[in-house]
Amino acid sequence: MVTADTPVPDGSGSPDGSGTPATSADATGLCGFIDSSPSPFHACATTAARLRTAGFRELDEADGWPAEPGRYFLVRGGSLIAWQSRARSTDTNVPAPFPARPFRIIGAHTDSPNLRVKQHPEIDSAGWRMVGLEPYGGAWLNSWLDRDLGVSGRLAVAAPSGGGVEHRLVRVDEPVLRVPQLAIHLSEDRKGVQLDPQRHVDAVYGLGAWEDGAAGGFLGRLAARAGVPAESVLGWELMTHDLAPSAVTGADGELVSAPRLDNLATCYAGLSALLDTVGPKVSVGDGADSGGVADPGAADPVLVLFDHEEVGSMSARGAFSDLLGTVLERIVLARGGGRDDYLRAIAGSVCVSGDMAHATHPNYPERHEPRHRIRAGGGPVLKVNQNLRYASDATGAAEFALACERAGVPLQRYVHRADLPCGSTIGPITASRTGITTVDVGAPQLAMHSARELMAASDVAAYAAALAAFLAG
Ligand SMILES: [Zn+2]
Repeated sequence: MVTADTPVPDGSGSPDGSGTPATSADATGLCGFIDSSPSPFHACATTAARLRTAGFRELDEADGWPAEPGRYFLVRGGSLIAWQSRARSTDTNVPAPFPARPFRIIGAHTDSPNLRVKQHPEIDSAGWRMVGLEPYGGAWLNSWLDRDLGVSGRLAVAAPSGGGVEHRLVRVDEPVLRVPQLAIHLSEDRKGVQLDPQRHVDAVYGLGAWEDGAAGGFLGRLAARAGVPAESVLGWELMTHDLAPSAVTGADGELVSAPRLDNLATCYAGLSALLDTVGPKVSVGDGADSGGVADPGAADPVLVLFDHEEVGSMSARGAFSDLLGTVLERIVLARGGGRDDYLRAIAGSVCVSGDMAHATHPNYPERHEPRHRIRAGGGPVLKVNQNLRYASDATGAAEFALACERAGVPLQRYVHRADLPCGSTIGPITASRTGITTVDVGAPQLAMHSARELMAASDVAAYAAALAAFLAG
């Protein structure tokens, strides 16, 4: 166990003995991933592009799936699941069952708290053209003020061929929106203002009035940006993002300042772990796709990235949905297994639910459990809650502790103050939906749910290395 009061391992147990965890992930890579992913839909697109490069093939849920082992993924809205299904081992000494081979799963979430566009967004107020916004999830509203904001998300449009609905990703990286702060002279006591989510988070778009018919309205401009006629836009999920690029900061470059660390940092670390685990792309005809997994009896690696965690996960693509369970069952069925093989696979599977963790705040140390200090730069965090706001049990904790040991990175153990309400994540939902042993973990950060968050650069590689060691089993 590592706390602020005990020495932190120096990583000398890393596979190459250099003290640097073996991983392709680093802080610069994380910044690029985040800046490519302003919305859950873009996070899936960014992930999908990297998976394709590594030889993963996209499947459609409406199609029959190939029986051949291989690298696959599918996207359901703002959620994505990727896996490597390996062939039956030719080694007769391998005890692992086939087709009931278990899975090792990394879960994370693609969504982050932000301000989202209302259905009738055009508002005229005091000579300003405004865009109506509302908070998504537990956005820390004060952090969204006085920032240059872009817009991203997806449009659902009538298919040009007639019949059906198609989706278009849309992204505006110009500073078109801003939620202006109230001047200090207009506050009642000059100590701050209480922000009302209904009245105080609409964004300035320009001067004048929408009713002048300026340029086809807000959605009309976005439709033009997406290359579709405005009248074809039937639905949308649009949100704002801070335009300041993610950056490696701090006195010696030891920090990462970025939006959406919660939870794109885990999406990035989990994706890096999966790609590092499966290894280089295999050629067609290589047969058993076991690249990167030394033990042919080991479990098959899975990465699942859920949308809608910040609003409770209860949707057709959130952690409460059937996404993970049905995909795992279909993998077993595609191998030639049956329901019994699926249930046997589930019984042997383990899931690491990765989300972020609260580093001990230097200005508010009293808000943290005094004997469970979490140090930024101190390595991945095991999150435990007796009231099951986190899914971690002794078995899951041991699995992740072993993974950290194999990766040569320190492990920190987090407990929330018993007199403060603890947040939750996809871990308890995943565990209860599937019956899979699940452990909640994260990387330390400050300012969770702010428009701009902060973490240690070294934790990016340490986190990804631990996740890779977990996947490799
Ligand atoms: Zn989160």
